[in-house]
This record gives sequence, structure tokens and C-alpha cells, in this order.
Amino acid sequence: MNPFNYSKPVEVSQAINLAGAASRFIAGGTNLLDLMKENIDRPEHLIDITGLPLKDIEETPSGGLLIGALVSNADLAWHPMIEARYPLLSQAILAGASPQLRNMASTGGNLLQRTRCYYFYDSAMPCNKREPGSGCPAKTGLNRIHAILGASDDCVATHPSDMCVALAALDAVVHVEGRAGKRSIEFADFHRLPEDSPQRDNQLADDELITAIELPPAGFVSHSHYLKIRDRASYAFALVSVAAALELDGDIIRDVRLALGGVAHKPWRDKAVEESLKGKPVSRESFVAAADAMLRDARPLAHNAFKIKLAQRAIVRALSDAAVGGNV
Ligand SMILES: Cc1cc2nc3c(=O)[nH]c(=O)nc-3n(C[C@H](O)[C@H](O)[C@H](O)COP(=O)(O)OP(=O)(O)OC[C@H]3O[C@@H](n4cnc5c(N)ncnc54)[C@H](O)[C@@H]3O)c2cc1C
Repeated sequence: MNPFNYSKPVEVSQAINLAGAASRFIAGGTNLLDLMKENIDRPEHLIDITGLPLKDIEETPSGGLLIGALVSNADLAWHPMIEARYPLLSQAILAGASPQLRNMASTGGNLLQRTRCYYFYDSAMPCNKREPGSGCPAKTGLNRIHAILGASDDCVATHPSDMCVALAALDAVVHVEGRAGKRSIEFADFHRLPEDSPQRDNQLADDELITAIELPPAGFVSHSHYLKIRDRASYAFALVSVAAALELDGDIIRDVRLALGGVAHKPWRDKAVEESLKGKPVSRESFVAAADAMLRDARPLAHNAFKIKLAQRAIVRALSDAAVGGNV
């Protein structure tokens, strides 16, 4: 690990004024410390943000919730308002990591955790995400866990978060603050596809801090389900995951949200597929058609073609479970 300076500001403005390209905010440290120990990330300055007043969950005037960036994953998943109004989010968070990690991990940090691509974590190997221009050995190497949607010639990594898949489905908004002021970013626009600059996972500037995540009022309480398919039953990242949410009128679909994890550089949504389900009856036929459409542009690598069929089946199952009230 390289030497670094350490600061612990108590105000958001102080934290932002200390930030820059060579610094990192540190919250729970459950991802950043691993990256530093493996020499993948070598910040010169750590800005410990755990003293900032960003630990509350508040109701918004519109009927949604504002979640402070430092609320732990455990506190968020078990919060009575989240359990009652956004069970999809609770379920997704509890599908991730372990109880100990969820106690440490923060809401903001979860959004910014780095990929689990083996080559990214191996500093002896090239990696365009870690060292722009050095190459992508995953394209022709071990790529069982890699992307089938939205990948580029430069990067086939996936985003590993479970929580983010639910936040994408719920149309969350990310509130950030930097030296240029505050701004709000729609969740769908927050993470990036790799294109020719995979070193950038998201739209944040170096001095921007995530302060909160806002959930709109619609929580799909009666009909939502998070399905995570992984190599073992706990403490493993998703090979494929699905956040499915339905609003039903009898057996007619009035509104639907569908987001996939484990398949792309960001949580994957396709609004055209969601539109195509609206007005249709709840049926295996509608769900199979949606699943096929969702994967129509999938491009497998040598070792991950299984993910296409797996994702299609997972979508059908998650929608079916959501339809019968699958979050309980
Ligand atoms: C063994 C293991 C298994 C795991 N399994 C899963 C899993 O199954 N599913 C899953 O979703 N996750 C999993 N995780 C990942 C875990 O959820 C993340 O490590 C965690 O959410 C990161 O939060 P943190 O607060 O610890 O972030 P940190 O490690 O403190 O920071 C991560 C990054 O976010 C930045 N950052 C943190 N907070 C802010 C902020 N407010 N504004 C701007 N930048 C910020 C930091 O600078 C850093 O770049 C696992 C982790 C481990 C170690």
C-alpha cells in the first residue's frame, strides 16, 4: 500500500474542497481498502467522510424518501419505511455481500464500488479500466462473469452491485455536490457504458460527493421481486440478477419496471420492453416475449453464452414471482 494523507472533515463543503483527482472519499472502506491493498488504486489523500451529516432517511414533500449517502446498507435494508414502501430495495440489498459487510458499506459507496473483473484486480495484467490503453485480456480470457450487453472493444466488465439494480428499477435520483454546486442525476444516467473510456464508471467529477439518493413515491409494494442467480447461495456476486416490479389492474399490467444486474457495465434497463408489456395480461407468454426482447442485442463471449438463456429465464421467473406478490 502506498503512503497517503488522511483528513476527516465534518462538513460537506470541507470534504468537497479537499477533493481532487489524486484523492478518494472513503466511507465504509469495504471496496476502496481492498483496491488500495492490491495496489489497484493508489490515492495520495484519503478523505474520510464518515463524520459528515449524511446518515438520515427523510420523507420528501412528493411522498418519496431521501436516503443520506452514509446510511449503511444494513440500516437501509431493515429500515421500517424501506421495508414497508420499497421492499424491492430491501430484498436486493439483503441479497448482497454478508451481514458484516452490509453493516460497514454505505449507500453512496455501493453505487461506486468497482467491477469484480479478475483482470482489473490483477495488477500484473493489462486492463483498460485500470490503465487506459493497456488492453483488455478479459475479451479473450476468462470471461464467464463478464458482460453480454453494452460492452465495448475496450472493456467487457460488469457492474457488481445488487442495490443499484433495484435503484435503477425504482427510478431513483442521485444527489451530488461539488465545487461547482449541487446537481441531481437520474439513476439511468449515473453509471456509464464503457465505450472507449472504461476507466470512468460513472458521471461524477473528481470533486463531487454523493450526498443522497432520492426514491420517488412509487414503491411497487404489492408486486415486486429481486432475483439473484449466483454460484453459491450467499457471499457471491450476481451472475445475473433481475429487479422486477409491476402495477396491476386485475391481471392487466398497468406499469412495469425491469432492470438486470450482472450483465453489463451498468444496471440494464430497456424502456421499450417495459412499454411493450403495458396493457398486456399477466401471462407466461407476455413475460417470455419481454425476456427475449430484453436480450435481443446480447453478445456472448467465449465463456458466458449461458448468461443469455439464464437472464431470459430469470426475467420470466422474477416477473412471475412479482405478479403473485413475490417480495414477501
Ligand atoms: C467479499 C465482498 C462481497 C461483496 N458482495 C457483494 C454483493 O454480493 N453485492 C453487492 O452489491 N455488493 C457486494 N459487495 C460490495 C459492497 O457492497 C461494497 O464494497 C460497498 O457497498 C461499498 O461501500 P463502502 O461504503 O464500503 O465504500 P468504500 O469502499 O468506502 O468506497 C467505494 C468507492 O466509493 C467512493 N465513495 C464512497 N462514498 C462516496 C460518496 N458519498 N460520494 C462519492 N464517492 C464515494 C470511494 O471514494 C470509493 O471510490 C461485496 C464486497 C465484498 C468485500
